[in-house]
Amino acid sequence: MLEIRDLHVTTDEKEIVSGVSLEIGKGLYFLMGPNGAGKSTLARALAGDPSLKVSGSIAIDGEDITSLEPEERFKRGLFLGYQIPPEIKGVKVRTFLEKSLKKVNRKLDLEQLARQVGLPVGILERDVNLGFSGGERKKLETMQMLAFKPRYAILDEPDSGIDIDTIRKLGEILESCKKECGILVITHTGNLLKFTKPDKVFILADGKIVARGDHGLVEEIEERGYSWAME
Ligand code: ADP
Ligand code: MG
Repeated sequence: MLEIRDLHVTTDEKEIVSGVSLEIGKGLYFLMGPNGAGKSTLARALAGDPSLKVSGSIAIDGEDITSLEPEERFKRGLFLGYQIPPEIKGVKVRTFLEKSLKKVNRKLDLEQLARQVGLPVGILERDVNLGFSGGERKKLETMQMLAFKPRYAILDEPDSGIDIDTIRKLGEILESCKKECGILVITHTGNLLKFTKPDKVFILADGKIVARGDHGLVEEIEERGYSWAME
């Protein structure tokens, strides 16, 4: 279980996340909410972004990780797929993945993995995210999730800016991964619902969880907007 208790996150003196408590077990979870609600800040706080001030607690399978470095969280099976994946000039995708995989004692056929997410294998020889299209960046994040086999994955808008075939592929990947691990997908749309269904849905607004439900909540939000969920 990934357990988040009364988490407050502050950046530049401003509290962005205000007392969030969540539990993520095996399965698929959606986190939705209006722009600026604090979803990405919450995700970055879970991954250990050092620029954020955090109070409350985060635990993985009973171990408190609230004050651990990002690398230590990663070793314990936590993965964050960024909303805006950073460019790493001078580091090839292949090198980046091979070195990261070494940290978790794994070796994989990267070419097969690239094909699985719909990336050309030539991308392995390019610098990480440099000159990548939005869709290619998202696919590389998904590829990392598949490669690292985390116990808990947080994917920040993996479905934004990708075409319908890629959404289908992503849905199928989530559908197969959710049996083995806990996945929290931050999303704005119900586009994935055709291919996979979340077990639980959380709505974050103004730094607080204002609603919890099942996949039906996504459809309600799409129809009626967030103000309805926040009433
Ligand atoms: P969401 O992902 O839900 O759209 P974010 O977590 O990205 O929202 O941002 C929540 C709020 O926090 C926004 O108003 C954003 O401008 C603000 N914010 C995020 N990071 C910083 C920062 N480093 N300094 C100041 N404000 C920030
Ligand atoms: Mg965001």
